[in-house]
Amino acid sequence: MSPTPMTRDDWQALAEHLTAEKGLETRAYIDDAFVDAADGATLTTINPATGETLAEVASCDAADAEAAVSVARRAFEGGAWSRRAPGERKAVLLRLAELMEANKHELALLDTLDMGKPVNSSLGDMAGAIGCIRHHAESIDKLYGEVAPTGEESLGLVLREPLGVVASIVPWNFPLMMTAWKIAPALAAGNSVILKPSEKSPLSALRLAQLVREAGLPRGVFQVLPGFGHTVGKALALSMDVDCLAFTGSTGVGKQLMQYAGQSNLKKVFLECGGKSPNLVFADCKDLDRVAEHAAGAIFHNQGEVCIAGSRLLVENSIREAFVDKVLAAAERMQPGDPLDPESFMGAIVDDTQHARILEYIRRGVAEGATLRTGGQALGGEGPNGKGLFIGPTVFDGVTDAMAIGREEIFGPVLSVFGFDSEDEAVRLANDSDYGLAAGLWSQDIDRIMRVTRRLRSGQVFVNNWADMDQTVPFGGVKQSGNGRDKSHHSLEEYSDLKSVWMTLTA
Ligand code: NAD
Repeated sequence: MSPTPMTRDDWQALAEHLTAEKGLETRAYIDDAFVDAADGATLTTINPATGETLAEVASCDAADAEAAVSVARRAFEGGAWSRRAPGERKAVLLRLAELMEANKHELALLDTLDMGKPVNSSLGDMAGAIGCIRHHAESIDKLYGEVAPTGEESLGLVLREPLGVVASIVPWNFPLMMTAWKIAPALAAGNSVILKPSEKSPLSALRLAQLVREAGLPRGVFQVLPGFGHTVGKALALSMDVDCLAFTGSTGVGKQLMQYAGQSNLKKVFLECGGKSPNLVFADCKDLDRVAEHAAGAIFHNQGEVCIAGSRLLVENSIREAFVDKVLAAAERMQPGDPLDPESFMGAIVDDTQHARILEYIRRGVAEGATLRTGGQALGGEGPNGKGLFIGPTVFDGVTDAMAIGREEIFGPVLSVFGFDSEDEAVRLANDSDYGLAAGLWSQDIDRIMRVTRRLRSGQVFVNNWADMDQTVPFGGVKQSGNGRDKSHHSLEEYSDLKSVWMTLTA
Protein backbone atom coordinates (compact mmCIF):
# COMPACT_ATOMS: atom_id res chain seq x y z
CA MET A 1 0.00 0.00 0.00
CA SER A 2 1.46 3.39 -0.93
CA PRO A 3 1.70 5.97 1.88
CA THR A 4 -0.95 8.72 2.04
CA PRO A 5 0.23 11.73 0.02
CA MET A 6 1.24 14.79 2.06
CA THR A 7 -1.27 17.66 2.18
CA ARG A 8 -0.43 21.36 2.24
CA ASP A 9 -0.88 21.35 6.01
CA ASP A 10 1.50 18.41 6.37
CA TRP A 11 4.17 20.26 4.39
CA GLN A 12 3.59 23.43 6.38
CA ALA A 13 3.94 21.49 9.65
CA LEU A 14 7.20 19.95 8.45
CA ALA A 15 8.46 23.39 7.33
CA GLU A 16 7.96 24.71 10.85
CA HIS A 17 10.58 22.22 12.08
CA LEU A 18 13.14 23.26 9.49
CA THR A 19 14.56 26.31 11.19
CA ALA A 20 18.00 27.14 12.55
CA GLU A 21 16.47 27.25 16.07
CA LYS A 22 15.33 23.66 15.65
CA GLY A 23 18.67 22.41 14.39
CA LEU A 24 18.63 23.12 10.65
CA GLU A 25 22.28 22.97 9.56
CA THR A 26 23.56 26.28 8.19
CA ARG A 27 27.32 25.87 8.58
CA ALA A 28 29.92 24.71 6.06
CA TYR A 29 31.05 21.07 6.17
CA ILE A 30 34.85 20.88 6.18
CA ASP A 31 37.04 18.00 7.37
CA ASP A 32 34.12 16.06 8.85
CA ALA A 33 32.89 18.98 10.96
CA PHE A 34 30.21 21.66 10.60
CA VAL A 35 31.95 25.02 10.94
CA ASP A 36 31.35 28.72 10.43
CA ALA A 37 33.12 30.45 7.56
CA ALA A 38 36.70 31.35 8.60
CA ASP A 39 35.84 35.06 8.65
CA GLY A 40 32.42 34.46 10.23
CA ALA A 41 30.54 35.82 7.18
CA THR A 42 27.00 34.68 6.45
CA LEU A 43 24.52 35.06 3.61
CA THR A 44 20.76 35.28 3.90
CA THR A 45 18.59 32.74 2.17
CA ILE A 46 15.01 33.82 1.44
CA ASN A 47 11.82 31.89 0.69
CA PRO A 48 10.74 33.49 -2.62
CA ALA A 49 7.11 32.40 -2.15
CA THR A 50 6.78 34.56 0.98
CA GLY A 51 9.76 36.92 1.02
CA GLU A 52 10.62 35.64 4.51
CA THR A 53 14.16 34.90 5.65
CA LEU A 54 14.79 31.16 5.96
CA ALA A 55 18.26 31.18 7.46
CA GLU A 56 21.65 32.84 7.74
CA VAL A 57 24.08 30.45 6.12
CA ALA A 58 27.89 30.38 6.30
CA SER A 59 29.34 32.35 3.40
CA CYS A 60 32.69 30.78 2.59
CA ASP A 61 35.59 32.49 0.88
CA ALA A 62 39.17 31.80 -0.24
CA ALA A 63 40.44 30.71 3.20
CA ASP A 64 37.68 28.09 3.49
CA ALA A 65 38.37 26.90 -0.06
CA GLU A 66 42.05 26.51 0.73
CA ALA A 67 41.30 24.55 3.90
CA ALA A 68 38.82 22.26 2.14
CA VAL A 69 41.15 21.62 -0.81
CA SER A 70 44.00 20.62 1.48
CA VAL A 71 41.70 18.26 3.43
CA ALA A 72 40.38 16.78 0.17
CA ARG A 73 43.91 16.23 -1.14
CA ARG A 74 44.97 14.54 2.08
CA ALA A 75 41.93 12.28 1.96
CA PHE A 76 42.60 11.40 -1.65
CA GLU A 77 46.28 10.61 -1.08
CA GLY A 78 45.42 8.65 2.06
CA GLY A 79 43.50 6.21 -0.12
CA ALA A 80 40.74 5.34 2.37
CA TRP A 81 38.27 6.06 -0.41
CA SER A 82 40.29 6.49 -3.61
CA ARG A 83 41.95 3.09 -3.29
CA ARG A 84 39.08 1.29 -1.64
CA ALA A 85 37.61 -1.66 -3.56
CA PRO A 86 34.77 -0.47 -5.81
CA GLY A 87 32.38 -2.92 -4.17
CA GLU A 88 33.02 -1.27 -0.79
CA ARG A 89 32.47 2.22 -2.22
CA LYS A 90 29.24 0.90 -3.64
CA ALA A 91 28.04 -0.24 -0.22
CA VAL A 92 28.62 3.22 1.31
CA LEU A 93 26.87 5.00 -1.56
CA LEU A 94 23.91 2.64 -1.37
CA ARG A 95 23.67 3.45 2.34
CA LEU A 96 23.63 7.14 1.42
CA ALA A 97 20.78 6.49 -1.06
CA GLU A 98 18.83 4.72 1.71
CA LEU A 99 19.30 7.68 4.04
CA MET A 100 18.19 10.10 1.35
CA GLU A 101 15.11 7.96 0.73
CA ALA A 102 14.29 8.01 4.44
CA ASN A 103 14.65 11.81 4.50
CA LYS A 104 13.28 12.65 1.07
CA HIS A 105 10.38 14.77 2.30
CA GLU A 106 12.69 16.99 4.28
CA LEU A 107 15.20 17.27 1.43
CA ALA A 108 12.44 18.09 -1.07
CA LEU A 109 10.94 20.68 1.22
CA LEU A 110 14.30 22.40 1.73
CA ASP A 111 14.64 22.83 -2.04
CA THR A 112 11.09 24.17 -2.31
CA LEU A 113 11.52 26.64 0.54
CA ASP A 114 14.88 27.80 -0.83
CA MET A 115 14.02 28.29 -4.49
CA GLY A 116 10.24 28.28 -4.83
CA LYS A 117 9.37 25.23 -6.94
CA PRO A 118 6.22 23.21 -6.16
CA VAL A 119 6.92 20.65 -3.50
CA ASN A 120 5.63 17.71 -5.53
CA SER A 121 8.07 18.66 -8.23
CA SER A 122 10.87 18.67 -5.63
CA LEU A 123 9.78 15.20 -4.53
CA GLY A 124 10.16 14.08 -8.15
CA ASP A 125 13.67 15.57 -8.11
CA MET A 126 14.48 13.46 -5.01
CA ALA A 127 13.56 10.31 -6.91
CA GLY A 128 15.95 11.45 -9.65
CA ALA A 129 18.71 12.29 -7.17
CA ILE A 130 18.41 9.03 -5.23
CA GLY A 131 18.16 7.01 -8.45
CA CYS A 132 21.35 8.65 -9.67
CA ILE A 133 23.29 7.76 -6.50
CA ARG A 134 22.05 4.16 -6.74
CA HIS A 135 22.85 3.89 -10.43
CA HIS A 136 26.47 4.93 -10.02
CA ALA A 137 26.90 2.90 -6.84
CA GLU A 138 25.65 -0.17 -8.67
CA SER A 139 27.76 0.50 -11.78
CA ILE A 140 31.14 1.04 -10.23
CA ASP A 141 31.95 -2.57 -9.36
CA LYS A 142 30.94 -3.81 -12.81
CA LEU A 143 33.41 -1.83 -14.91
CA TYR A 144 36.46 -3.62 -16.23
CA GLY A 145 39.75 -2.22 -17.45
CA GLU A 146 41.32 -3.39 -20.71
CA VAL A 147 44.17 -5.52 -21.89
CA ALA A 148 45.40 -4.00 -25.15
CA PRO A 149 46.04 -6.31 -28.13
CA THR A 150 49.85 -5.85 -28.11
CA GLY A 151 52.39 -8.54 -29.06
CA GLU A 152 53.24 -11.38 -26.69
CA GLU A 153 56.45 -9.75 -25.45
CA SER A 154 54.59 -7.14 -23.47
CA LEU A 155 51.35 -6.50 -21.72
CA GLY A 156 49.46 -3.27 -22.27
CA LEU A 157 46.94 -2.52 -19.53
CA VAL A 158 44.45 0.33 -19.72
CA LEU A 159 43.33 1.32 -16.21
CA ARG A 160 40.71 3.85 -15.13
CA GLU A 161 41.78 5.98 -12.20
CA PRO A 162 40.06 8.77 -10.23
CA LEU A 163 41.16 12.34 -11.01
CA GLY A 164 41.84 13.47 -7.44
CA VAL A 165 40.06 16.56 -6.04
CA VAL A 166 36.84 17.48 -7.84
CA ALA A 167 35.07 20.79 -7.16
CA SER A 168 31.38 20.57 -8.09
CA ILE A 169 29.75 23.96 -8.60
CA VAL A 170 26.00 23.71 -9.06
CA PRO A 171 22.98 25.98 -9.71
CA TRP A 172 19.73 26.57 -7.85
CA ASN A 173 17.07 25.35 -10.26
CA PHE A 174 17.25 21.65 -9.28
CA PRO A 175 19.51 22.03 -6.24
CA LEU A 176 19.78 18.46 -4.99
CA MET A 177 19.24 16.67 -8.29
CA MET A 178 22.03 18.60 -10.06
CA THR A 179 24.20 17.88 -7.03
CA ALA A 180 23.52 14.15 -7.30
CA TRP A 181 24.28 14.13 -11.03
CA LYS A 182 27.73 15.52 -10.19
CA ILE A 183 28.71 13.87 -6.92
CA ALA A 184 27.41 10.34 -7.59
CA PRO A 185 29.80 9.47 -10.45
CA ALA A 186 32.63 11.55 -8.93
CA LEU A 187 32.47 9.72 -5.58
CA ALA A 188 31.82 6.32 -7.15
CA ALA A 189 34.98 6.77 -9.24
CA GLY A 190 36.99 7.36 -6.02
CA ASN A 191 37.52 11.13 -6.07
CA SER A 192 37.39 13.57 -3.16
CA VAL A 193 34.57 16.04 -3.78
CA ILE A 194 34.06 19.65 -2.67
CA LEU A 195 30.50 20.78 -3.36
CA LYS A 196 29.66 24.45 -3.80
CA PRO A 197 25.89 24.85 -3.89
CA SER A 198 24.29 28.00 -5.26
CA GLU A 199 24.09 30.89 -2.80
CA LYS A 200 20.35 30.90 -3.59
CA SER A 201 19.73 27.30 -2.49
CA PRO A 202 22.34 25.97 -0.04
CA LEU A 203 20.11 24.21 2.51
CA SER A 204 19.60 20.75 0.96
CA ALA A 205 23.35 20.42 0.32
CA LEU A 206 24.07 20.95 4.02
CA ARG A 207 21.43 18.40 5.01
CA LEU A 208 23.01 16.04 2.49
CA ALA A 209 26.37 16.51 4.21
CA GLN A 210 24.81 15.22 7.45
CA LEU A 211 23.56 12.15 5.60
CA VAL A 212 26.93 11.58 3.92
CA ARG A 213 28.56 11.58 7.32
CA GLU A 214 25.98 9.10 8.62
CA ALA A 215 26.52 6.88 5.56
CA GLY A 216 30.18 6.50 6.54
CA LEU A 217 32.25 8.18 3.85
CA PRO A 218 35.81 8.51 5.14
CA ARG A 219 36.89 11.83 6.60
CA GLY A 220 37.52 14.64 4.12
CA VAL A 221 36.18 12.82 1.05
CA PHE A 222 33.08 15.02 0.81
CA GLN A 223 32.83 18.66 1.89
CA VAL A 224 30.30 21.45 1.31
CA LEU A 225 31.22 25.12 0.98
CA PRO A 226 28.17 27.40 0.77
CA GLY A 227 28.90 30.91 -0.48
CA PHE A 228 28.98 33.15 -3.51
CA GLY A 229 30.39 32.33 -6.92
CA HIS A 230 32.73 35.29 -7.08
CA THR A 231 34.22 34.42 -3.67
CA VAL A 232 34.46 30.73 -2.80
CA GLY A 233 33.51 29.47 -6.28
CA LYS A 234 36.26 31.51 -7.89
CA ALA A 235 38.79 30.43 -5.25
CA LEU A 236 38.07 26.76 -5.97
CA ALA A 237 38.29 27.39 -9.70
CA LEU A 238 41.67 29.12 -9.36
CA SER A 239 43.10 26.56 -6.93
CA MET A 240 46.35 24.92 -8.00
CA ASP A 241 45.31 21.73 -6.24
CA VAL A 242 41.81 21.09 -7.67
CA ASP A 243 41.98 18.58 -10.51
CA CYS A 244 38.53 19.03 -12.01
CA LEU A 245 35.75 21.62 -12.02
CA ALA A 246 32.42 19.92 -12.63
CA PHE A 247 30.01 22.75 -13.31
CA THR A 248 26.32 23.19 -14.01
CA GLY A 249 25.18 26.74 -14.54
CA SER A 250 25.11 29.58 -17.02
CA THR A 251 27.25 29.76 -20.14
CA GLY A 252 28.77 33.06 -18.98
CA VAL A 253 30.12 31.55 -15.77
CA GLY A 254 31.19 28.42 -17.66
CA LYS A 255 33.41 30.61 -19.85
CA GLN A 256 34.92 32.25 -16.76
CA LEU A 257 35.73 28.84 -15.28
CA MET A 258 37.68 27.91 -18.40
CA GLN A 259 39.69 31.09 -18.01
CA TYR A 260 40.38 30.34 -14.35
CA ALA A 261 41.62 26.88 -15.34
CA GLY A 262 43.95 28.50 -17.88
CA GLN A 263 45.19 30.99 -15.27
CA SER A 264 45.92 28.24 -12.75
CA ASN A 265 46.73 24.57 -13.27
CA LEU A 266 44.82 23.63 -16.48
CA LYS A 267 42.40 21.61 -14.41
CA LYS A 268 39.80 19.68 -16.33
CA VAL A 269 36.63 21.76 -16.79
CA PHE A 270 33.44 19.82 -17.40
CA LEU A 271 30.51 22.13 -18.20
CA GLU A 272 26.73 21.76 -18.36
CA CYS A 273 25.49 25.21 -19.36
CA GLY A 274 22.47 27.08 -20.67
CA GLY A 275 20.05 26.53 -23.51
CA LYS A 276 17.42 28.04 -25.78
CA SER A 277 15.91 24.80 -26.91
CA PRO A 278 13.75 24.56 -30.04
CA ASN A 279 10.61 22.42 -30.10
CA LEU A 280 9.54 21.66 -33.70
CA VAL A 281 5.90 20.86 -34.42
CA PHE A 282 5.03 19.62 -37.92
CA ALA A 283 1.50 19.76 -39.34
CA ASP A 284 1.32 15.97 -39.77
CA CYS A 285 0.98 15.31 -36.01
CA LYS A 286 -2.09 13.22 -35.22
CA ASP A 287 -3.00 14.46 -31.75
CA LEU A 288 -2.34 18.20 -31.59
CA ASP A 289 -4.03 18.54 -28.18
CA ARG A 290 -1.49 16.18 -26.67
CA VAL A 291 1.41 17.94 -28.43
CA ALA A 292 0.17 21.34 -27.21
CA GLU A 293 -0.04 20.08 -23.62
CA HIS A 294 3.57 18.87 -23.84
CA ALA A 295 4.77 22.05 -25.57
CA ALA A 296 3.31 24.13 -22.72
CA GLY A 297 4.72 21.79 -20.06
CA ALA A 298 8.14 21.97 -21.77
CA ILE A 299 8.39 25.68 -20.93
CA PHE A 300 6.22 26.16 -17.85
CA HIS A 301 7.47 23.23 -15.77
CA ASN A 302 9.67 24.50 -12.90
CA GLN A 303 8.55 28.10 -13.75
CA GLY A 304 10.62 27.85 -16.94
CA GLU A 305 13.77 27.76 -14.81
CA VAL A 306 15.04 24.69 -16.63
CA CYS A 307 18.18 24.38 -18.74
CA ILE A 308 16.29 22.28 -21.30
CA ALA A 309 13.12 24.40 -21.26
CA GLY A 310 11.46 24.20 -24.67
CA SER A 311 11.56 27.99 -24.90
CA ARG A 312 11.42 28.28 -28.71
CA LEU A 313 8.28 26.70 -30.16
CA LEU A 314 8.62 26.32 -33.94
CA VAL A 315 5.25 25.56 -35.55
CA GLU A 316 4.44 24.81 -39.19
CA ASN A 317 2.49 27.85 -40.38
CA SER A 318 -0.44 25.83 -41.80
CA ILE A 319 -1.47 24.81 -38.23
CA ARG A 320 0.08 27.65 -36.27
CA GLU A 321 -3.00 29.66 -35.38
CA ALA A 322 -5.02 26.68 -34.19
CA PHE A 323 -2.03 25.14 -32.43
CA VAL A 324 -1.12 28.31 -30.53
CA ASP A 325 -4.75 28.47 -29.28
CA LYS A 326 -4.33 24.98 -27.87
CA VAL A 327 -1.04 25.98 -26.18
CA LEU A 328 -2.79 29.00 -24.64
CA ALA A 329 -5.53 26.73 -23.29
CA ALA A 330 -2.90 24.41 -21.78
CA ALA A 331 -1.02 27.39 -20.30
CA GLU A 332 -4.22 28.51 -18.59
CA ARG A 333 -4.17 25.24 -16.60
CA MET A 334 -0.53 25.78 -15.53
CA GLN A 335 -0.89 28.94 -13.43
CA PRO A 336 1.44 29.38 -10.45
CA GLY A 337 0.30 28.72 -6.91
CA ASP A 338 1.59 28.20 -3.37
CA PRO A 339 4.63 25.87 -3.69
CA LEU A 340 3.47 23.93 -0.61
CA ASP A 341 0.14 23.12 -2.27
CA PRO A 342 0.56 19.70 -3.93
CA GLU A 343 -1.83 20.85 -6.67
CA SER A 344 0.34 23.78 -7.84
CA PHE A 345 1.87 23.33 -11.29
CA MET A 346 4.23 26.32 -11.05
CA GLY A 347 5.71 27.95 -7.97
CA ALA A 348 7.61 31.16 -7.23
CA ILE A 349 10.54 32.67 -9.17
CA VAL A 350 13.80 32.11 -7.29
CA ASP A 351 14.59 35.71 -6.28
CA ASP A 352 13.90 39.34 -7.09
CA THR A 353 16.88 39.60 -9.46
CA GLN A 354 15.60 36.74 -11.61
CA HIS A 355 12.03 38.05 -11.35
CA ALA A 356 13.13 41.49 -12.62
CA ARG A 357 15.22 39.91 -15.39
CA ILE A 358 12.26 37.91 -16.71
CA LEU A 359 10.00 40.98 -16.66
CA GLU A 360 12.65 42.96 -18.51
CA TYR A 361 12.78 40.31 -21.27
CA ILE A 362 8.98 40.49 -21.52
CA ARG A 363 9.19 44.27 -21.88
CA ARG A 364 11.81 43.87 -24.63
CA GLY A 365 9.67 41.29 -26.43
CA VAL A 366 6.80 43.78 -26.63
CA ALA A 367 9.15 46.60 -27.64
CA GLU A 368 10.71 44.47 -30.40
CA GLY A 369 7.30 43.79 -31.94
CA ALA A 370 6.39 40.24 -30.84
CA THR A 371 2.70 39.63 -30.05
CA LEU A 372 2.05 39.00 -26.36
CA ARG A 373 -0.77 36.42 -26.32
CA THR A 374 -0.99 35.75 -22.58
CA GLY A 375 0.73 36.52 -19.26
CA GLY A 376 3.53 39.04 -19.02
CA GLN A 377 2.85 40.50 -15.60
CA ALA A 378 4.19 40.06 -12.12
CA LEU A 379 1.56 38.35 -10.00
CA GLY A 380 1.24 38.71 -6.27
CA GLY A 381 -1.48 36.83 -4.49
CA GLU A 382 -0.44 33.26 -5.31
CA GLY A 383 1.70 32.69 -2.23
CA PRO A 384 0.41 32.27 1.30
CA ASN A 385 0.99 35.92 2.31
CA GLY A 386 0.69 37.86 -0.97
CA LYS A 387 4.39 38.81 -0.88
CA GLY A 388 5.85 36.15 -3.17
CA LEU A 389 7.57 36.45 -6.55
CA PHE A 390 5.30 34.95 -9.20
CA ILE A 391 4.96 35.31 -12.96
CA GLY A 392 2.25 33.49 -14.92
CA PRO A 393 2.71 31.51 -18.14
CA THR A 394 3.65 34.02 -20.84
CA VAL A 395 3.36 33.35 -24.58
CA PHE A 396 4.69 35.52 -27.41
CA ASP A 397 3.74 34.76 -31.02
CA GLY A 398 5.39 36.14 -34.15
CA VAL A 399 8.89 35.92 -32.68
CA THR A 400 11.92 36.13 -34.99
CA ASP A 401 15.51 35.11 -34.46
CA ALA A 402 16.51 38.79 -34.45
CA MET A 403 14.65 39.41 -31.16
CA ALA A 404 16.25 39.01 -27.74
CA ILE A 405 13.36 36.78 -26.60
CA GLY A 406 14.05 34.57 -29.62
CA ARG A 407 17.78 34.14 -28.96
CA GLU A 408 18.68 34.61 -25.30
CA GLU A 409 18.06 32.28 -22.38
CA ILE A 410 15.40 33.96 -20.22
CA PHE A 411 15.13 31.21 -17.58
CA GLY A 412 11.51 31.96 -16.80
CA PRO A 413 7.98 31.02 -17.96
CA VAL A 414 8.20 32.79 -21.33
CA LEU A 415 7.49 30.94 -24.56
CA SER A 416 8.56 32.36 -27.94
CA VAL A 417 6.57 31.03 -30.92
CA PHE A 418 8.08 31.08 -34.43
CA GLY A 419 6.36 29.99 -37.67
CA PHE A 420 7.97 28.00 -40.50
CA ASP A 421 6.88 26.82 -43.94
CA SER A 422 9.32 24.02 -44.75
CA GLU A 423 11.48 21.39 -43.09
CA ASP A 424 14.62 23.22 -44.20
CA GLU A 425 13.43 26.45 -42.64
CA ALA A 426 12.55 24.64 -39.40
CA VAL A 427 16.02 23.11 -39.17
CA ARG A 428 17.70 26.41 -40.01
CA LEU A 429 15.75 28.24 -37.28
CA ALA A 430 16.35 25.44 -34.75
CA ASN A 431 20.10 25.45 -35.32
CA ASP A 432 20.41 29.25 -35.42
CA SER A 433 21.47 29.46 -31.79
CA ASP A 434 24.63 29.66 -29.72
CA TYR A 435 23.18 26.84 -27.64
CA GLY A 436 22.72 23.14 -28.37
CA LEU A 437 21.30 21.46 -25.28
CA ALA A 438 17.96 19.94 -26.30
CA ALA A 439 15.53 19.90 -29.20
CA GLY A 440 12.06 18.43 -29.63
CA LEU A 441 10.49 17.09 -32.78
CA TRP A 442 6.81 16.18 -33.21
CA SER A 443 5.78 14.35 -36.38
CA GLN A 444 4.27 11.06 -37.54
CA ASP A 445 6.52 10.87 -40.60
CA ILE A 446 9.37 8.47 -39.82
CA ASP A 447 11.46 9.63 -42.78
CA ARG A 448 11.19 13.22 -41.61
CA ILE A 449 11.99 12.20 -38.02
CA MET A 450 15.17 10.44 -39.15
CA ARG A 451 16.25 13.32 -41.42
CA VAL A 452 15.57 16.12 -38.95
CA THR A 453 16.97 14.29 -35.91
CA ARG A 454 20.30 13.92 -37.69
CA ARG A 455 20.39 17.56 -38.75
CA LEU A 456 19.63 19.10 -35.35
CA ARG A 457 22.78 20.29 -33.55
CA SER A 458 21.79 19.31 -30.04
CA GLY A 459 23.00 17.12 -27.19
CA GLN A 460 19.62 15.43 -27.02
CA VAL A 461 16.63 15.20 -29.31
CA PHE A 462 13.21 14.31 -27.93
CA VAL A 463 11.02 12.71 -30.60
CA ASN A 464 7.30 12.88 -29.83
CA ASN A 465 8.01 13.63 -26.16
CA TRP A 466 9.65 16.40 -24.18
CA ALA A 467 12.34 15.52 -21.63
CA ASP A 468 12.00 11.75 -21.32
CA MET A 469 14.81 10.79 -18.93
CA ASP A 470 16.51 7.78 -17.43
CA GLN A 471 19.71 7.20 -15.46
CA THR A 472 21.01 5.04 -18.32
CA VAL A 473 20.91 7.83 -20.92
CA PRO A 474 23.59 10.55 -20.94
CA PHE A 475 22.59 14.20 -20.56
CA GLY A 476 24.53 17.20 -21.88
CA GLY A 477 24.95 19.74 -24.61
CA VAL A 478 26.97 20.83 -27.63
CA LYS A 479 28.07 24.30 -28.75
CA GLN A 480 27.88 26.80 -25.85
CA SER A 481 25.61 24.48 -23.85
CA GLY A 482 28.59 22.54 -22.57
CA ASN A 483 31.19 19.89 -23.17
CA GLY A 484 30.52 16.74 -21.21
CA ARG A 485 27.84 14.35 -20.08
CA ASP A 486 26.01 13.82 -16.81
CA LYS A 487 24.29 10.49 -16.03
CA SER A 488 24.92 6.96 -17.36
CA HIS A 489 28.32 5.27 -17.43
CA HIS A 490 29.53 8.04 -19.77
CA SER A 491 29.57 10.47 -16.85
CA LEU A 492 32.05 8.22 -15.04
CA GLU A 493 34.46 9.04 -17.87
CA GLU A 494 34.33 12.72 -16.82
CA TYR A 495 35.66 11.81 -13.38
CA SER A 496 38.42 9.39 -14.27
CA ASP A 497 41.59 9.31 -16.31
CA LEU A 498 43.03 6.48 -18.35
CA LYS A 499 46.39 5.16 -17.26
CA SER A 500 48.28 3.06 -19.79
CA VAL A 501 50.63 0.52 -18.25
CA TRP A 502 53.31 -1.26 -20.30
CA MET A 503 54.65 -4.43 -18.73
CA THR A 504 57.55 -6.11 -20.46
CA LEU A 505 58.67 -9.71 -20.08
CA THR A 506 62.08 -9.73 -18.47
CA ALA A 507 62.98 -13.33 -19.19
P1 NAD B 1 25.16 30.64 -12.50
O1 NAD B 1 26.10 30.35 -13.62
O2 NAD B 1 24.90 32.03 -12.14
O3 NAD B 1 25.66 29.93 -11.16
C1 NAD B 1 25.94 28.55 -11.11
C2 NAD B 1 26.93 28.29 -9.98
O4 NAD B 1 28.15 28.93 -10.32
C3 NAD B 1 26.48 28.86 -8.63
O5 NAD B 1 26.86 27.98 -7.60
C4 NAD B 1 27.29 30.16 -8.55
O6 NAD B 1 27.53 30.60 -7.23
C5 NAD B 1 28.57 29.74 -9.24
N1 NAD B 1 29.36 30.87 -9.77
C6 NAD B 1 28.91 32.06 -10.22
N2 NAD B 1 29.95 32.84 -10.59
C7 NAD B 1 31.07 32.12 -10.36
C8 NAD B 1 32.46 32.39 -10.53
N3 NAD B 1 32.90 33.55 -11.01
N4 NAD B 1 33.34 31.41 -10.21
C9 NAD B 1 32.93 30.22 -9.73
N5 NAD B 1 31.62 29.93 -9.52
C10 NAD B 1 30.71 30.86 -9.85
O7 NAD B 1 23.81 29.85 -12.87
P2 NAD B 1 22.46 29.79 -12.04
O8 NAD B 1 21.74 31.09 -12.19
O9 NAD B 1 22.73 29.26 -10.69
O10 NAD B 1 21.67 28.64 -12.85
C11 NAD B 1 21.00 28.88 -14.03
C12 NAD B 1 21.85 28.45 -15.22
O11 NAD B 1 22.21 27.09 -15.09
C13 NAD B 1 21.06 28.54 -16.52
O12 NAD B 1 21.89 29.09 -17.51
C14 NAD B 1 20.75 27.08 -16.84
O13 NAD B 1 20.54 26.81 -18.20
C15 NAD B 1 21.96 26.39 -16.32
N6 NAD B 1 21.69 24.98 -16.06
C16 NAD B 1 22.24 24.06 -16.91
C17 NAD B 1 21.96 22.69 -16.74
C18 NAD B 1 22.54 21.65 -17.66
O14 NAD B 1 22.53 20.47 -17.29
N7 NAD B 1 23.04 22.00 -18.82
C19 NAD B 1 21.15 22.29 -15.68
C20 NAD B 1 20.62 23.26 -14.82
C21 NAD B 1 20.91 24.61 -15.02
